Amino acid sequence: MSGKSTSLYQKALKPLEKAADVLGLESEIIGVLSSPERSLIVSIPVRMDDGKTRVFMGYRVQHNMSRGPAKGGIRYHPSVCLDEVKSLALWMSIKNSVVGIPYGGGKGGIACNPKELSEGELERLTRGYAAAIANFVGPDRDIPAPDVGTNSQVMGWFVDEYCKIAGKCLQGVITAKPLSIGGSRGRETATGRGAFFATLEAAKTFDIPLKGLSVSIQGYGNVAQPIARYLYEVGCKIVAVSDSKGGAYNPEGMHPIKLADFKAKTRSVKGFPDSEEITTSDPVTVDCDILIPAALENQITQKNVDDVKARMIVEEANGPTTPEADKILHERGIIVVPDVLANAGGVTVSYFEWVQNRMGYYWSDEEVDARLNHIMTSAFKDVYQTAKQHEVDTSFTAREKQLHLRTAAYVTAVKRIVDAMQALGRI
Ligand code: NAD
Repeated sequence: MSGKSTSLYQKALKPLEKAADVLGLESEIIGVLSSPERSLIVSIPVRMDDGKTRVFMGYRVQHNMSRGPAKGGIRYHPSVCLDEVKSLALWMSIKNSVVGIPYGGGKGGIACNPKELSEGELERLTRGYAAAIANFVGPDRDIPAPDVGTNSQVMGWFVDEYCKIAGKCLQGVITAKPLSIGGSRGRETATGRGAFFATLEAAKTFDIPLKGLSVSIQGYGNVAQPIARYLYEVGCKIVAVSDSKGGAYNPEGMHPIKLADFKAKTRSVKGFPDSEEITTSDPVTVDCDILIPAALENQITQKNVDDVKARMIVEEANGPTTPEADKILHERGIIVVPDVLANAGGVTVSYFEWVQNRMGYYWSDEEVDARLNHIMTSAFKDVYQTAKQHEVDTSFTAREKQLHLRTAAYVTAVKRIVDAMQALGRI
């Protein structure tokens, strides 16, 4: 276990502890909330294309299942380790609770570099992982989904292996499947669409008209491209974008679809016509009204937080802001729509997929979109109400425009989890 990953879980606990403090929870309850219910480590032997067998380490953590079965993605990345998966599982408990969907939090992963594996190796690895954790997952136990390094094809292999072992067709064991095997309409753009609805509600609440505002995005991938398009459609200007290879800046604005097409062709936004070349991290500090971190953890830190110029930050990535930087943003009066709220659209449409699989009845694009809008808008309102309710607490400043939405989101979520644990007689 590396020091880096240990500190990630310690960081992940900070807002939870702050929320527990606001709610006046006893230390035993904080102890229960800080301890994942189940952490599974599996080794997966895989026959590689050269005929040799290689062993991969896989993980699945179920953080808290008081509100329902665990739900959360599967990450394939070389840095995956137990502490990282624990942190991601804890964030899922909070996220699912903030948006009020009936799940606990879970997360899984395999320490591997999927880019270095052939398609056959990836399939054998996924089937091995599905078999290794089959007894712990299921539509009523724990429902995985994709995360960094996995996609709908990986979900297809997983559901196939699981159903063979279960001896029946249980499509609802996993979400974000292809449409042809029980996927939901709207899932691919769901995280960006949900973040857009949260941004609209934040803009309305804080009286910030969106038309003409400049937007900067770090990480122009799956979740970033849709929100760029939706914000462009309501009159925002996309002035900066980046990915792992570099970035592009144009204060006059860039077309989000042309940017996506350019990246699809050249594998980067770097070198986009009529733009100035910037670094991968420059979008965090360029002149803009709205900043959207949509790449990795720990991007807004004590080192660059003073240079952030945005009035509002919408966290599409998980954990992009360190606790130290978060405090400074709050003191500077910058509105932060926190990750556990802003990027919950993906898991919300995954929930819709699970519901549709159980019913065997499928919704149209319009139905999915309307339900997602309702859930994201209501969740923002709940969090904002909680922030107002605790305004006098030392955790919040007295000025309404400086309410700390992250703590409020955690307070909202933790209260619901504690209510469930109490109703079950667990605490
Ligand atoms: P992705 O791989 O499609 O996109 C990530 C983008 O970030 C890529 O374009 C990559 O090149 C870029 N990137 C990587 N390192 C970078 C760096 N140092 N600087 C700038 N850009 C960099 O992944 P995604 O699915 O869009 O996920 C992005 C984030 O959103 C992750 O934190 C993920 O956990 C979170 N998230 C994703 C979903 C979802 O539904 N996919 C849901 C909730 C949260």
